[in-house]
Amino acid sequence: MTVLLGLPGLRAPRPGVGEVRALADAYGRVASDLRLSLTDRCNLRCTYCMPAEGLDWLGRDELLDDDEIVRLVQIGVERLGITTVRLTGGEPLLRRGLEGLVTRLASLDPRPALALTTNGIGLAPRAAGLAAAGLDRINVSLDTLDPDVFARMTRRRRHGDVLEGIRAARAAGLAPLKMNTVLMRGVNDHEAPALLRWALEEGVQLRFIEQMPLDAQHGWRRTEMVTAAEILARLRTEFDLVVDPAHAAARGSAPAELFRVVGTQQTVGVIASVTQPFCGSCDRVRLTADGQIRTCLFAREESDLRSLLRGGADDATIADAWVVAMAGKQPGHGIDDPSFLQPDRPMSAIGG
Ligand code: SAM
Ligand code: SF4
Repeated sequence: MTVLLGLPGLRAPRPGVGEVRALADAYGRVASDLRLSLTDRCNLRCTYCMPAEGLDWLGRDELLDDDEIVRLVQIGVERLGITTVRLTGGEPLLRRGLEGLVTRLASLDPRPALALTTNGIGLAPRAAGLAAAGLDRINVSLDTLDPDVFARMTRRRRHGDVLEGIRAARAAGLAPLKMNTVLMRGVNDHEAPALLRWALEEGVQLRFIEQMPLDAQHGWRRTEMVTAAEILARLRTEFDLVVDPAHAAARGSAPAELFRVVGTQQTVGVIASVTQPFCGSCDRVRLTADGQIRTCLFAREESDLRSLLRGGADDATIADAWVVAMAGKQPGHGIDDPSFLQPDRPMSAIGG
């Protein structure tokens, strides 16, 4: 398999059959991890993500259908070096026929690793079926162990459903089972050690994520954000955490800094997207539910693959457009830059 590293701005010759071009940018990064949003809709209303009333959802015709999704992912894995596909949203479990889509993605050649990020609502009865369809890994988002805090943070009383979903995912063998947690000051930040204790008992790998300015309401404040340093300080009041050299060496493009919890075989991760950005080793590319390529969560531009698809473009033309889009990826998100502007679309519409 030949890999042609495309230089931005230069039109690389079209590859022959079996050749793969890298989704490379001007800063030496190569994207191989596709974040695929299946819907912008959600059944929770997390305060750091969405307003209580929800958003203006995309219309049915605007969404890519399953055939369109499979075709784009096929182009990604066959021609552009995509090796991992993470299904997200909005809430991806709300997408009708998700199991069928997973089956089709799992039968692509080369087969991508398939992961899902979900809020866990409705996961319990579906976890085994998703695993059977070919899903490899799952991340469940849960910010609290307290049903009342959950209701305050998500504006819905569904805490028990999420716990059931996590246990069903584990029983279905979806490993490693990860849990994403966002801490908010004065709301759930006191729970950090208890969440870690619970995750250790449940055999779940917990990863704390710094809150990012991606909410539709533009309510994020730098001064209010619970930083990675604060999270670690809170955890260290109850746990000994050490940077494991093996994990550090193997980190690569993984956003989480992993710490081994002394006295256990388990780790806890901290994703310091704001205070210690990992843009320099980013290997991600995003495809929105309406078929737009975004090179970054914080990108201000999108590239319209849906129009190409629906206009009858062939695979090579779509692959070209994808390569050109990636070549324009910015070096970083610039949240700490005074000129930073929050992207027009919120996280739920981009695909988190
Ligand atoms: N609905 C699914 C879920 O909640 O897991 C998938 C989409 S959600 C946008 C993906 C992840 O982004 C979740 O773990 C959520 O906690 C996280 N998230 C949402 N808004 C965020 C923000 N403003 N800052 C940091 N993480 C955020
Ligand atoms: Fe929905 Fe996920 Fe956003 Fe919460 S974080 S509102 S579960 S999309």
